Amino acid sequence: MIIVDNPNNIRISQDGDIELLNKYKNVMEEIVESLVTVHTLGPDFQVFCRCEKCRMDIIALSLNALPTHYVTTEEGRQTVFEQLNNEENRRWINKRIVSSIYLVGKYPKH
Ligand SMILES: [Zn+2]
Repeated sequence: MIIVDNPNNIRISQDGDIELLNKYKNVMEEIVESLVTVHTLGPDFQVFCRCEKCRMDIIALSLNALPTHYVTTEEGRQTVFEQLNNEENRRWINKRIVSSIYLVGKYPKH
């Protein structure tokens, strides 16, 4: 039996099959992706390579050093996003991202 508390999170096919969309999502991933974009486009990190490979490595390295915050609903995503995306949390998340930018910049995988 499938229990879903957010009806927007399911898709019912013509055959009547119920499919869960985006079963779970790590909100930290979303936040790190957008902060990395802000950093790499900003003026402070122009000397670093901004190719897609380095960007992915920076995101992966940062995420390995940060706690995960999985949610299963859009409501949950919004709540956790608001909790994580305040000034204090952004500050320590940014610390991890900045050290990842330096590390990937020093040892690029290309
Ligand atoms: Zn690169």
